[in-house]
Amino acid sequence: MRKLICLLLSLMMLFGVSAMAETAAEDLFTPGTYTGEAQGIFSPITVQITVSANKILGVSINAKGETESLGGLAAEKMSEAILKAQTPNVDGLSGATVSSDAIREAAKSALLQAGADLDKLDANRKDTGAAGEKQEKEIETDVVVIGAGGAGMTAAIMLNQAGADFVIIEKMPYAGGNTTKATGGMNAAETHYQKEQGIEDSTALFAADTMKGGHALNDPELVAVMANQSADAIDWLDTIGAELPKISFSGGASVNRIHAPEDGSGVGAFLVERFSAKLDELGVGIMYDTTATELLTDDEGRICGVKAEGEEYLYTFRCKAVILATGGFGANEAMYTQYRPDLKGTVTTNAPGATGDGIVMAQALGADLVDIEQIQLHPTVEQTTSILITESVRGDGAILVNQSGVRFTNELLTRDAVSAAELEQEGQYAWIIFDQNLRDHLKAVEKYVKSGITVQADTVEGLAELLGIDPEVLAKTVNDWNGYVKDQRDPDFGRTTGMNADLTTAPYYAIKIAPGIHHTMGGVKIDTAAQVINTEGKPIPGLYAAGEVCGGVHGGNRLGGNAVADIVIFGRIAAQSVLDYIK
Ligand code: ADP
Repeated sequence: MRKLICLLLSLMMLFGVSAMAETAAEDLFTPGTYTGEAQGIFSPITVQITVSANKILGVSINAKGETESLGGLAAEKMSEAILKAQTPNVDGLSGATVSSDAIREAAKSALLQAGADLDKLDANRKDTGAAGEKQEKEIETDVVVIGAGGAGMTAAIMLNQAGADFVIIEKMPYAGGNTTKATGGMNAAETHYQKEQGIEDSTALFAADTMKGGHALNDPELVAVMANQSADAIDWLDTIGAELPKISFSGGASVNRIHAPEDGSGVGAFLVERFSAKLDELGVGIMYDTTATELLTDDEGRICGVKAEGEEYLYTFRCKAVILATGGFGANEAMYTQYRPDLKGTVTTNAPGATGDGIVMAQALGADLVDIEQIQLHPTVEQTTSILITESVRGDGAILVNQSGVRFTNELLTRDAVSAAELEQEGQYAWIIFDQNLRDHLKAVEKYVKSGITVQADTVEGLAELLGIDPEVLAKTVNDWNGYVKDQRDPDFGRTTGMNADLTTAPYYAIKIAPGIHHTMGGVKIDTAAQVINTEGKPIPGLYAAGEVCGGVHGGNRLGGNAVADIVIFGRIAAQSVLDYIK
């Protein structure tokens, strides 16, 4: 991944023209250096702009508090863009909307201090009409991996280690896709970590749990492969420095099976960072800002190329095989409402690149689709920011209450069940309630507090008042719950997990949440060798797919921990199949 470490960006791109030397009939600015500030997602962002009488000479953006978002990358891109356009009204970075808006706002404030007329700057913008036609470029390679999320990066590492000739392209200016957002861990059975920790498990039980969780809609052969190869995948992750030794319980699993990083960080961000480091070490460069638009086949229907659009070039890759690792379509409202009109207007937790391109490109070659209407809602999404409140918050003891201040479900049922229960409440939302003790033990909560989505009070009654809930009712709900934790029995909804700690440590916290689109379970049909299957039941020669772009593994409901298993296991299988094919 392009490093986001450039958080203190001092991109003073001073042109070789001094303020003194410039002359203009009508001045745009009072020469000097000005600083504007606006609130980002986690911190204030400052933009320092140096101007001559009629030119923006330098832009320096400090987004150092935005470490956990893409704010750093937004700062880098937007400082260049403002210089080029000579106006603060430039495009932001998709996936970093709040940081991008803050950068624009801070830049405007700085320029207003310099006496600028912002409308005039827009009218005179300098970045239009200059781009010209993109040039065509042909590249010969054996394999094109499309998409640098978890599945694509796994495949790329495998291909490199086998000495294959390949390129990996990514349409965003950064890697990671939805994978970055995975918080829990990776399900795997019969692993050496489980054995070392005395956990008895079996691949058969893993497969059975996955089928049950998926309402038996899953393809049992794909599920069996995932379960059988899961321990090997954990071993492989060890070899590339991506160890997942911490094992815990996750909804729908019969035993402790979800494997996570030692330091408690989110599994997705951890893996993307480790995969990126490995690719760097191997000398594999990802072609960013390069969007695959079409798959090419020869007269016999075999894959022979990919068309893609980059910032400067229109590429034609001539290749023998393609691995589609383009992820799902949870960020494409037109596409998910095509299959599920009832989801119109639902917010999404998905990365902006999850637009279903791979599915559409494969369909154009006759690929079959499976379970395409199976879309998973995550029950705890803050609606104004789309921040997903990780399941661990409920797993560590939080409860859900409605606007009347009462619980309405076992909070740790499967995601589809909890989401459905929320949608039955007045206003179709709920409040997730937790305490300081939970905050102290769960790293993720800091992010929520910093981003301003939590409501906080020193007493439960005080919290209720801030939420517009009857204080007596909420106090009774929390008191009752604390009693259930003590007795380890929930007579109201039969909850049996996430009951290790009560809610008695002030201050108390609440976040307003509702369901959001989280994972698209359906996608292109693959066989157990990750070959894409067409509507006649035959493989499309040279076309392989792995990860969220595929359907079949998760059926009607994906268990937490199975997305990462899917990515790593089928990413590896796709690479191995391609290696066999191109031989
Ligand atoms: P998975 O979990 O299956 O690996 P991710 O969502 O993590 O899926 O990653 C998919 C990646 O593919 C994302 O980074 C996304 O931006 C990228 N992608 C999607 N469509 C295209 C495309 N047409 N060309 C290149 N990259 C794409």
